Amino acid sequence: MKERDIGPSSDESLILVDIQNRGIRIGQGIASGRRGGAGPTDDAAFRLGDQTMMLPVFNGPAESSPYSLVDGVDGYKLQYEGKTLMYLNPVDRPQFYDLYTADGIPYNKIAVLHSSDVLASTVIQSCIRWGPEDRCKFCAIGHSLAAGATLAKKLPEQLAEVVMAAERLDGIRQITLTTGTPNETDRGAHHLAECVRAIRKVSSLPIQVQCEPPEDDSWYDILKEAGANTIGLHVESFDEQVRRRMMPSKSRISLDTYFEAFGKAVAVFGRNQVTTYVILGMGEDEEVTIAGCARAVSLGVYPFVVPLRPLRGTLLEHSQPPSSDYMEKAYRKVAEMLSDTGLSSADSMAGCAKCGACSALASFERRKAPGVATR
Ligand code: SF4
Repeated sequence: MKERDIGPSSDESLILVDIQNRGIRIGQGIASGRRGGAGPTDDAAFRLGDQTMMLPVFNGPAESSPYSLVDGVDGYKLQYEGKTLMYLNPVDRPQFYDLYTADGIPYNKIAVLHSSDVLASTVIQSCIRWGPEDRCKFCAIGHSLAAGATLAKKLPEQLAEVVMAAERLDGIRQITLTTGTPNETDRGAHHLAECVRAIRKVSSLPIQVQCEPPEDDSWYDILKEAGANTIGLHVESFDEQVRRRMMPSKSRISLDTYFEAFGKAVAVFGRNQVTTYVILGMGEDEEVTIAGCARAVSLGVYPFVVPLRPLRGTLLEHSQPPSSDYMEKAYRKVAEMLSDTGLSSADSMAGCAKCGACSALASFERRKAPGVATR
């Protein structure tokens, strides 16, 4: 697939699509970002007008990106092959990063800031699928633990302590708790529920929990009763062949199981309060993928479509992200089906769909027709 030259004259959404794929070259010390961990990483948060985006800055594609960030008199300038497109300012390092627990653990080993207002934590940093043959090829969950950047398991009271500080000092507005998979039964839901309960004693901020579909459906009720507002059940791909190739172990959970789980989770959390991560650019069939998104949407699930981020240390480290044309097409289709069924990023209470910083999907949702911005 040939990469279209987006260039300086294209509108903001298309630039957003392009920089989320290709990343930005930044100078040393410009932005403090995140490396390793679960989910998309090797990135940093930037403000573009009233939205915040997580953009790749530490992975391979970012190193050779045509986009760069240059210090200017009025802020940082985003340049495309040396031509200035717009101002793009890194999100400040949060103040809670400077704090420690009473026993000397830095708060940012317990939770980190995503985007500009999301506190995120991987409550269990290990995963039964993290073996050389089994691990998901796009995932870096074991690396930050090996590098000593995080704790293997975050205690509920530690999280509550960090939430209080991040709310007070940095004005966080929502919380996302994810987990590696510790077993084949509750799949992390038990520890997530304990963490949510502890946070609820100190904060009323909306919380998303993310895990594989637990074996016993009662976990959805337990998580909801603990105080979680939304849940992420991340299928990663709707293409069975891609799932088997990219997720040798996790793909043993069938797509049927995921769709059943979506229905059960929506029955507990409500429409628009269940999300699934869908990574594009792993060789998936386009039609199958869009059909999978449509089926999820019909159940009330928000498919959070993101481009593959080839992360350092993962088995896809040397892969290329998908083309921006491909992503733009997918965003338009998914945004249209969301709008047709009344689902939206805005109506999600917490989590990745609400945050939206790793995807350009929400910016397509905001258009009534291609090219017409509604706000
Ligand atoms: S979209 Fe999800 S993973 Fe990305 S910054 Fe927001 S909360 Fe974090």
